[in-house]
Amino acid sequence: MPDTLAANLETVRQTIARCAERAGRDPAAITLVAVTKTLPAARIREAIGLGLKTFGENRVQEALPKIEVIGTADASWHLIGHLQTNKVKFIEGRFAMVQSIDRVAVVEALDRRLGSPLEILIEVNVAEEPQKTGALPADLTTIAEAAQAARHLQLRGLMTVAPMVSDPEQVRPVFRRLRALRDETSQRLATPLPVLSMGMTEDYPVAVEEGATMLRLGRALFGPR
Ligand SMILES: *Cc1c(COP(=O)(O)O)cnc(C)c1O
Repeated sequence: MPDTLAANLETVRQTIARCAERAGRDPAAITLVAVTKTLPAARIREAIGLGLKTFGENRVQEALPKIEVIGTADASWHLIGHLQTNKVKFIEGRFAMVQSIDRVAVVEALDRRLGSPLEILIEVNVAEEPQKTGALPADLTTIAEAAQAARHLQLRGLMTVAPMVSDPEQVRPVFRRLRALRDETSQRLATPLPVLSMGMTEDYPVAVEEGATMLRLGRALFGPR
């Protein structure tokens, strides 16, 4: 239903603008990553037709055929799900960014495999939920230092998936903590880390207020999966 995506996109843009304004932020500084897991290439083409450019996929195997048919000229692909070391060989030339770096082993495996620069984010399990992927806050410095030492990786910031809660206000402290971790890490590495990828369908207005520079939205744009 093409009309639905256009209308949803308009609602999302208005919400981002309103929340950014409330926080004294420029909405143009916020990148919308359209999360297209489970969706066919036709829906992604439709999104491209509406001006969307950045797409998030959380499984390499699922993303490969879509990247194959859509290409990388009109779409920039971000990996937002767990990356296994045996999949690092598929990243180069396909993904513009890997948002889900969560351990030193994957930093090293990826860097060894690359022949050109790749932007990355470190995913942090801020709430330390046992069932979740992402680095524990205590491990962040070690991973960030490994990323900084890597030849081809360009560490741009941090990503988090906030806990599922009924009231989005409950995740505000999680977003604040990610921002504080970003500030600390940036200072420690003496390097700017401009990207904060936080905020999904249920909580993106709060994420915008707390400084998100990337939102990863699936259902808010495409409807229920
Ligand atoms: C699925 C997914 C999203 C998008 O979730 P919605 O609730 O549909 O907006 C964002 N980030 C990650 C890591 C995801 O796996």
